[in-house]
Amino acid sequence: MDYKDLANLIFPNAKPIEYYEEKYKKRDLPEGAIVTRFAPSPTGFVHLGSLYQVAISKKIAKQTNGVLFLRVEDTDQKREIENGVIQIVKSLEDFGLTPDEGMTGENEEIGDYGPYKQSLRKEIYESYAKYLLEQGKAYPCFATTEELDEMRAKQEAAKIRPGYYGVWAKYRNLTVEEAIEKIKNGENYIVRLKSPGNEERRIKHHDLIKGNVDFPENDQDIVIIKADGLPTYHFAHAVDDHLMHTTHVIRGDEWLSSIPLHLQLFQVLGFKAPKYAHIAPIMKEDDGGKRKLSKRKDPEAAVSYYTDEGIPKEAVIEYLLNIANSNFESWRKANPNSSIDDFELQINKMSVSGALFDIVKILDISKTVISKYTAEKIYEEAMNWAKIYDKELEEILNDKEYAIKVFGIERGNAKPRKDISKWSDVKENIEYMYDDKFFNKKEEYDYQKITDKELINKILKLYMEKYYDENDDKQTWFDKIKDLSEEIGFAREVKEWKAQPEKWPGHVGDVSTVLRVALTRRSNTPDMYEIMKVLGKERIFKRFQEVMNKNTI
Ligand code: GLU
Repeated sequence: MDYKDLANLIFPNAKPIEYYEEKYKKRDLPEGAIVTRFAPSPTGFVHLGSLYQVAISKKIAKQTNGVLFLRVEDTDQKREIENGVIQIVKSLEDFGLTPDEGMTGENEEIGDYGPYKQSLRKEIYESYAKYLLEQGKAYPCFATTEELDEMRAKQEAAKIRPGYYGVWAKYRNLTVEEAIEKIKNGENYIVRLKSPGNEERRIKHHDLIKGNVDFPENDQDIVIIKADGLPTYHFAHAVDDHLMHTTHVIRGDEWLSSIPLHLQLFQVLGFKAPKYAHIAPIMKEDDGGKRKLSKRKDPEAAVSYYTDEGIPKEAVIEYLLNIANSNFESWRKANPNSSIDDFELQINKMSVSGALFDIVKILDISKTVISKYTAEKIYEEAMNWAKIYDKELEEILNDKEYAIKVFGIERGNAKPRKDISKWSDVKENIEYMYDDKFFNKKEEYDYQKITDKELINKILKLYMEKYYDENDDKQTWFDKIKDLSEEIGFAREVKEWKAQPEKWPGHVGDVSTVLRVALTRRSNTPDMYEIMKVLGKERIFKRFQEVMNKNTI
């Protein structure tokens, strides 16, 4: 009896690997095209770090006319949640990162290299496990839980390296006959790799991000097929990335230490190994130190946070490219209006250690991104967000024509307004343009320099009676505020006043502030001329009148 008999006994129906080698043909792609994948477990949760990985993978695939596919790694069925795949697919879609191939729904997929869900690939793994068994490169292991516990306890007591390897690998050297007998007796078993590695030897490896690394060879006889008949992650990784013709594995650097094992699996199976790029995690400052951005501690770790807050996807992706390549920032400065598709991402320029997460930077990028949107686009995006997250804002925005006018204030020019960084900011930012919100707000407001109520009333009265004309162009409008300033004994120009501040109680800017605050209850707003244009005479006067009435009581 030989290995073949053993292999046939374990997997009697498995197809020869030639069947799959033939079925999953080499991809027909241009020279240099990168094929990469996102391979999450279907836990539903998408971490910002995963989004980072996908953003990089998608960009690299696109740049080289390659392929990004989504493979669901559900061989650890304990970790699964209901609708876990859909949530991942949806999150990627939310950020414009839909893969070219792979899972598109809980059970739907596109592409010629499927199934893309590992639990549906059981037969494929069996074929490759059988292939190894036939050559004596894998073996059935009959160790019971008690035996494994005992082994671990002994290793611990003797302070030696834990694991199932070398002399500890009790079932590694059973004869074929012994193994067959045990199986026929109904003993439980799993399938292990018969590792050809030696701990004393080192393997050298070039990682596209981490550079040259070297590790001791793997000598652990790792499990390849578990008791439930499914493969372990490591074995599935080698089989799948081979059959799916992955050229580059781009993944989190928590996997770097698995490199000796993964390379060994590729070698034992006779496959060409892909290139690897191990991405450093996104870090967070904590108590003066640094730690990984954590799913448990940081709400910003979940990509749903950005959707919930209404931070546009472009901003998040742009931020991620920013931390991926340090030259992105200068590229952006030189090309403020270019699409990020024009930026050439270089994977080997990614930092070896993790970048610090910076929400201020994200919001800053977001402000710039939004400032370039048209009023219509802002309207659509804010409305879509409001429909899910803020009924009050939805109501405000129901008058589309007016809302677009409001969003159009100081927009579409060379220096557009930059006061919105996320859709959840919008309500705050535009409320004063809506009378029912405006008149319902009771708080006091700060006129800054001019505090005398009589003077405030005088400014407002004069402005209404003498200086406001809805047909004025911007220059005339401003000249009239200067005239008004002069009439009440203030300097026409800020410059003049600065040169001789003792000469006037204040300047045109102080007068403008009175108008602005009376009009909006804010000292800081986008362009007042445009605000007045949108409000119109009647509403402006009503607001001024209200202030005057209050001041007189
Ligand atoms: N399923 C693994 C994970 O969720 C994938 C690792 C890899 O990309 O190889 O982390």
